[in-house]
Amino acid sequence: MRKICLLLAIGCLAHALASAQLQQLKPGWNLFSMQQDVQLGQEAAAEVERRAAVVHNRDLDDYLNTILHKLEQSPYARTLASDGSRSGLFPFSVHVIYDKNVNAFALPGGPIFIHTALIEAAENEAQLAGVIGHEMSHVVLRHSTNQASKQNLVALPALLAEALVGNSMLGQLAKIGIGLGANSVLLKFSRTDETEADYNGAEIVAGAGYNPLELANFFEKLEAKSGRQNELMQFLSDHPNPGNRVAAVSEEVRYMPRRGYVEDETGKFQHVQDLVQHLSTPGEARATSSDEEHKPSPPGARPSRQLIGYRGKSFSLAYPENWQVHGDTRANTVTIAARDGIVQSANGQPQIGYGLQVSYYSPPKSGAELNRDTQALVRQLKQSNAGMRTGRDPRGIQVGDQPALLTTLYATSPYRGEQEVDALVTVARPEGLFYAIFIAPQSEFEQVQEIFEDVLRSVRFF
Ligand SMILES: [Zn+2]
Repeated sequence: MRKICLLLAIGCLAHALASAQLQQLKPGWNLFSMQQDVQLGQEAAAEVERRAAVVHNRDLDDYLNTILHKLEQSPYARTLASDGSRSGLFPFSVHVIYDKNVNAFALPGGPIFIHTALIEAAENEAQLAGVIGHEMSHVVLRHSTNQASKQNLVALPALLAEALVGNSMLGQLAKIGIGLGANSVLLKFSRTDETEADYNGAEIVAGAGYNPLELANFFEKLEAKSGRQNELMQFLSDHPNPGNRVAAVSEEVRYMPRRGYVEDETGKFQHVQDLVQHLSTPGEARATSSDEEHKPSPPGARPSRQLIGYRGKSFSLAYPENWQVHGDTRANTVTIAARDGIVQSANGQPQIGYGLQVSYYSPPKSGAELNRDTQALVRQLKQSNAGMRTGRDPRGIQVGDQPALLTTLYATSPYRGEQEVDALVTVARPEGLFYAIFIAPQSEFEQVQEIFEDVLRSVRFF
């Protein structure tokens, strides 16, 4: 009898110690419902399918779904309520994007995308599974919509109410400058988010028999390489290093039940890496002729030479009086477009075809440097717009009495039979890299160039 009590006591003590060391994860404050996370993620995934070179390969998809299915068995893959309880599963999916930049990202509510270069960079299946488990954890902990909620607490409730009555969620968020573009708040996490995603992700992969240390090893390996390789910048800026990832996961492993781990559970990792290395570039011409037929014509009315003032949080400018402002004067982001300048693309997502977008970009490296930061932004824009290319070399100009760069880019226009010209103007500011993109179909660009120059001359910073 005594012996049993003693054993029980030791058991309880061990349990109490372990619980003291286990993090109590809680989802952050959020204006979105879980259902809205799912809706937003599905709309955004459709947008990614349209804009990025998503690979449709049976072997590859089967392989990733096998890993995903293993990871979904973990209780840590389940939704997390504010009282810490877990229930259902978000509708997870994994897809591959053909891209030479090492990257992976999760959209709210479940869709996960992995670049081919990341699969090539992984050393074993456990590292790849680690990335998937980490991304699943951002979804479970709802980091995207938590970040969006914190940054837009004034404007969001009304926009979400609009989305409730059947409007596109992505369309609503576009009004306050939240999209999938450069440095989107939806894809950019804090160091605390990272620590939580590592923690929860380590539990998910360990439950499936993968060594959770490989998750941390992979992140640290990328971090060590990042000084030399621009291709890594976006991943590491979206998933900032919380420091000591390996140490943190090692500590966590001490409190996990002992398990034997294998590096390659399916035995197919080598085959899949081979397959990825030999994928041919998915069609450059993704737009088929039938897509082309469904595109609208460019707006009839030219922008007016009569300009009116717009005052944002840290800058002001003047824009053509027949254009419309989409955005919030308290924000640092605004879209000003011609009537019919925002086009619903084939999948119902809004795209600016004729107008002006102004925002700030947070460069991956600190210490403002106009040339370097502009290059980082251009890389980002190209990543989110398949087929975008640079025209002339960047040119030095002045905007609001500050040195600025003018970079000309070309892309596919949402208007029928049109190429698009994107004149990108960047200025290094304390808030980040200020940028204005003038977007117009090429056939119109010559005619509106003077108006764009008038708008640029009107820019003031404060
Ligand atoms: Zn992350």
